[in-house]
Amino acid sequence: MQNNLIFENIIKKKIPAQIIYQDEKVTAFKDINPKAPVHILIVPNFFIASSNDINKKNKSILGHMFYIAVDIAKQKKISKEGYRIIINCNKNGGQEINYLHMHLLGGKKLKSFS
Ligand code: AMP
Repeated sequence: MQNNLIFENIIKKKIPAQIIYQDEKVTAFKDINPKAPVHILIVPNFFIASSNDINKKNKSILGHMFYIAVDIAKQKKISKEGYRIIINCNKNGGQEINYLHMHLLGGKKLKSFS
């Protein structure tokens, strides 16, 4: 399976995933290999390969993804202590799945980049 199809199939509920939120624009589900007690992926319901493919027409989806990520952080009660939102892009950014996604990570002190 082309790896972008994994997320497409999760959105369409053709393969199992722990979906915690879905609306007409985005889907959020638990990462299969969590790097923190809370590790959730937020994806658009339509295909965008990476942040390089954000354009004038589709840019509003990022605001909605961000809004939902913060809302989930509040629901999971990690917002006060803090969390990290990450979008990896391509090889050097560590993007493994070629389908734009936002990571929401929290529930523990995350390692600093510096
Ligand atoms: P990235 O390295 O930014 O492309 O992140 C891809 C993420 O997708 C990784 O954290 C994986 O653990 C996660 N992942 C891969 N396959 C699945 C799946 N079937 N269900 C949930 N998460 C997945």
